[in-house]
Amino acid sequence: MDEEIKGIIRGIALLNASEHDGKTRNDTIISKVVGTRPELRSRIKEIIPLITQIVSEVNSISISAQKSELENSYPDLLVIKPKQEREGLPPLEGAEYGKVITRFPPEPNGYPHIGHAKASIIDEEYAKMYGGKLILRFDDTNPENERLEYYAAIKVGLDWLGVKYDRVKNTSDDMELLYKKAEELLENEYAYVCTCEKETISINRREMRPCKCNAGDKSQNIKRWENMSKKYKQGEAIVRFRGDMHSENTVMRDPTLLRIIDEPHPIHKDKYRIWPNYDFAVAIEDSIDGITHAFRTKEYELRNELYYTILDKLNMRKPRMLEFSRLEFEGMPVSKRALKPLVQDGRVSGYDDPRLPTLEALRRRGIVPEAIRKFVLSLSFTKSDTFAPFETLESFNRKIIDPASIRLFIVFDPVKLLVSNNTMTEIEIPNHPQKDMGKRKVRVDGTFYISRQDAENLKVGDEVRLLELYNIRITKVSSDIHGEIIGTDYKAGIPKVQWISTNNAVSIEVVIPKILFVNDEFNENSLEIKQALTEPYYLELNVGTEIQFVRYGYCRKDSANQVIYTHK
Ligand code: ATP
Ligand code: MG
Repeated sequence: MDEEIKGIIRGIALLNASEHDGKTRNDTIISKVVGTRPELRSRIKEIIPLITQIVSEVNSISISAQKSELENSYPDLLVIKPKQEREGLPPLEGAEYGKVITRFPPEPNGYPHIGHAKASIIDEEYAKMYGGKLILRFDDTNPENERLEYYAAIKVGLDWLGVKYDRVKNTSDDMELLYKKAEELLENEYAYVCTCEKETISINRREMRPCKCNAGDKSQNIKRWENMSKKYKQGEAIVRFRGDMHSENTVMRDPTLLRIIDEPHPIHKDKYRIWPNYDFAVAIEDSIDGITHAFRTKEYELRNELYYTILDKLNMRKPRMLEFSRLEFEGMPVSKRALKPLVQDGRVSGYDDPRLPTLEALRRRGIVPEAIRKFVLSLSFTKSDTFAPFETLESFNRKIIDPASIRLFIVFDPVKLLVSNNTMTEIEIPNHPQKDMGKRKVRVDGTFYISRQDAENLKVGDEVRLLELYNIRITKVSSDIHGEIIGTDYKAGIPKVQWISTNNAVSIEVVIPKILFVNDEFNENSLEIKQALTEPYYLELNVGTEIQFVRYGYCRKDSANQVIYTHK
């Protein structure tokens, strides 16, 4: 019996360790053991020492030893795991535990955005779910658009998101191999070099007619291929796949595989001038990188036929290609191509402008990585393109930041309030209503600012509660408001008002990002800036601190005098 229990515990501990970088923990295993075998709950006292011992044994062996023991001794645990553990993602067809390899292949041509978060998180979660690997592959074969700055920005973004990859590589490091594969296609007459005008090629494609170059023989193609690296100018010759000019799928009408681009590459400078295009590079790279499951967004679906046909003709291993929908938000462009002109034309202040869905911008705005992951996994894994509600992301975020956000008072459009019989000089206010986040001392001298909205309807004789302080009765209303203290215990039913002591109020700007496009038109009012007053304690907080301004909303401190509105 004890051996059986030990076996159960060991299996659970190994599985948990394999999902958490080789380390497991007592408390996790205790709850998992009781969860799997409720009948053991009554024997928990005698089981805990066993768990402690097994957890420390498991933690002391290497990750690979954990993996192989798991595979050899507990194969059942691996089979049922995917369905049980990650609800957001359906099981992967044809996935074998320990053998799944996924990749995230961004082009380093811009800053990462939440669409990249979706793709990379799905890639990573599937790799984790099956004890596999994730490769970060920079798809950098178009030197016209690529810059070193963007490789770095993408890595920084993934780091922030907490997406961990097992390997990083650049497609451009495989140029010799890609050339070899192109030559193999030319040799076997599955491809040819076309020197027709761009215009002619596109008319022929539309009219399902082969170009005259299609009739050229192998020696002509090889000669032209050699000339592509010297004689031809950019645009004068391309390598085309011999597809099917009559195919219903326009992608198959002799698509381009390689073209000349005379721009220095950010890494390889002028070493190459013939560059593979997306379809060619992605097929070869996925195959040689050992990718088992490749994901991309739905708009590439028609390209699957080309992907598989290229690999067929080269007798190369075929990964499974799967699609998911593009993540889009209403009025917010989730695409590097659409973001770039906004930055270049100065319509937004940069890639970290809080109106944008870039990771930099979301971070600045106070959206945390855990919320993005939860949000991505909550979107059902469908291909249908519907706008995702930004509010869903906000609600995940709110749940995470609420327990950690300090509460401060904020006043808009200030009106002076003078309390005649104040004798207090200082009070302590808790930084969080439930959690122990410390207290702050606030100086009080009987003169306050309150928001015009709160002041507006006050009449002589009204009673209000100054939050955390005392109750007052209004004695006079002129350009200022006057009042007197009537008690300190909160009196049910009277309106609550937040306040700032006048003599040390801090002026800040609240930057409020709004929807960027309305009916496809740039919204000139997409950034609202409000002046406000807050407590001096604000100055002591680090940039990046999340604050909940009482009865207003969550904001992230962006500088000494500016906060960015996160959400309600
Ligand atoms: P962009 O218009 O932003 O340049 P892209 O698809 O060309 O889009 P890549 O850098 O090539 O961007 O994308 C890397 C990966 O991220 C691809 O697998 C792509 O499918 C995915 N991806 C890009 N944008 C989105 C999005 N909005 N939603 C989901 N996945 C996306
Ligand atoms: Mg792209």
